[in-house]
Amino acid sequence: MVLLVGNWKMAPEKAKDALSLAKKVQVLARTHKKNIKMVICVPGVHLSALSKVVKAPLSLGGQGISPSNEIAQTGRESAGMIASYGASYCIVGHSESRARGESDTDVAHATQLLLQKKVTPIVCIGEKERDAHGWYLSSVKSQVEAVIGALPKQLLKKLVFAYEPVWAIGKDALREATAVECREMIIFIRKIIADASDEKVAKAVSILYGGSVDENNGASFIDQGEADGLLPGRLSLDPKRF
Ligand code: PEP
Repeated sequence: MVLLVGNWKMAPEKAKDALSLAKKVQVLARTHKKNIKMVICVPGVHLSALSKVVKAPLSLGGQGISPSNEIAQTGRESAGMIASYGASYCIVGHSESRARGESDTDVAHATQLLLQKKVTPIVCIGEKERDAHGWYLSSVKSQVEAVIGALPKQLLKKLVFAYEPVWAIGKDALREATAVECREMIIFIRKIIADASDEKVAKAVSILYGGSVDENNGASFIDQGEADGLLPGRLSLDPKRF
């Protein structure tokens, strides 16, 4: 089963457009339910309206939560809030949130809070750039270790990781990643998880690929790239392409 998660980013602007898009994706999710598990991660402001229309096999997700349950956090949402509006998944550590100051420690705390509320965290990891000496591997390693080091071994298999090289994300992407680059990184991430737990757990964790995924390159990240699914961003706002 392929996990296909759409990150709607900060769109659409109007609730009626969010509803109409979700209804179209709902049809797709039903059509492909034997092979593809679909999730839409939507802006928090749309969760309430969408929770009334999004039904299995489509699942609803958030795009980030506060790393703490303290009330004094104007402008933030808690894990409990998104869970109460039907989110069963939530992106954490997206590069766009990390760029606004979300740290590895914040990502680890948010992941813990989501698991406590039975929301599946989709933990985004990925290097900003690639260097010839392979230093980028250590940045991905510390992102993964920050999250898995904060959790008991029995919870690790509940995680979904999304490898999203920052240089391949969004409209300013440098270039597309190749399936070979994706495969190498997925093997590397599984090795980090296996070293911290065991091979069985490392195999059970889903690892998605995201970063300028489209209808031309998507299948290659799964077939040759060994990803368990995909996390497209902009493209997920177009139901046909999604
Ligand atoms: C994303 O937002 O997670 C993403 C991968 O964006 P895009 O597909 O638009 O590059």
